[in-house]
Amino acid sequence: MPFEQARRLQALPPYLFKELDRMRDEVKARGVDIIDLGVGDPDRPTPPQVVEALGRAAADPANHQYPAYSGLNVFRDAVAAWYGRRHGVRLEGGRHICSLIGSKEGIAHFPLAFLNPGEVVLVPEPGYPVYHIGTLFAGGETRFMPLLEKNGFRPDYRAVGEETLAKARIIWVNYPNNPTGATVDLKFYEDLVAWARRRNLIVASDAAYSETTWSEKPHPSILEVPGALEVAVEFNSLSKPYNMTGWRLGWAAGNEELIQGLGRVKSNIDSGVFQAVQLAGLAALEGDQEPVRAMARLYRERRAVLTEGLLAAGLSVCPSEATFYVWVRLPDGLSSAEFSSRLLNEAGILATPGRGFGPSGEGYARFALVQEAARLKEASARLARLKF
Ligand SMILES: *Cc1c(COP(=O)(O)O)cnc(C)c1O
Repeated sequence: MPFEQARRLQALPPYLFKELDRMRDEVKARGVDIIDLGVGDPDRPTPPQVVEALGRAAADPANHQYPAYSGLNVFRDAVAAWYGRRHGVRLEGGRHICSLIGSKEGIAHFPLAFLNPGEVVLVPEPGYPVYHIGTLFAGGETRFMPLLEKNGFRPDYRAVGEETLAKARIIWVNYPNNPTGATVDLKFYEDLVAWARRRNLIVASDAAYSETTWSEKPHPSILEVPGALEVAVEFNSLSKPYNMTGWRLGWAAGNEELIQGLGRVKSNIDSGVFQAVQLAGLAALEGDQEPVRAMARLYRERRAVLTEGLLAAGLSVCPSEATFYVWVRLPDGLSSAEFSSRLLNEAGILATPGRGFGPSGEGYARFALVQEAARLKEASARLARLKF
């Protein structure tokens, strides 16, 4: 290759799904009807009132110029008001909120604002790959914190050594969790904030699935902890609750200096989110929230349908009250790569091997509930014919 990629790209973790993608194409070419439960991308459309709001806003020439880089004030105020309603937290849009081109963008860019080369970021695994990749791109070093089932898939951050902590600047957490489906209570965030304040660490909390829950109470936000605004920033997104992954709209909320730093990076790289998309997002946040609750109920039903087949196949399902993932424990001795390959070849079902999310994901597989119940019923029937 005449143009060798930069070392920062060469340092990226290998694409573990490459082999799975190849197998999928091969199985597909044999004419097998594949049920794809691989990628976590909602299958249902965005609520129509949001699409209509985009149409109106897109027609307004006032929205055709460069947006304000930290976000439209009315959108930031709407996010602040949402924190008041959902979490009882008082924030000011202009001080504590920054619009993002999807939360992935903010998660990836955040370390550029606060991490110097050689400094350390504490990252949970199995987990969303972007915490590590953002660290790499900023020249930092990742120390992974395993999420183990026996600890409720919570990181044992107190076990991180003093030498590492001396170089650490940021700790990432993600609840409700992708891929394990684990949730936490406010106490978890209280302890984490107290610990981080003593050590002058930034807590970055990824709350992308905060609305995809079906328990009685809303899942807590780290910003509910008194004093959290000293150290914490929360990333959230319209992608999952409103089926808006294609729209690219999210936000960061929290400590004012952290928001400013992130905004400064963004002002030098992108120029913010199309205003019409932010106005549509505002309509989503301020409109009827029944579609969000209905999606959560739907995922719960779908989960029940798939679980039947998984149990019939002799597999073990990790209980969860949130996200649209099912995290499945495999029998001892069966690797997640072997499992996914067997599932694809013998049942035409695509699930993600847990190893793809980190070494502690070995021995597990993730099923994304992004197909209608009828398809999941078919998946369940195919599963029930296998024995693991
Ligand atoms: C889907 C997802 C996101 C971000 O999605 P965006 O579309 O970029 O807002 C962030 N974190 C986790 C864990 C996710 O699964």
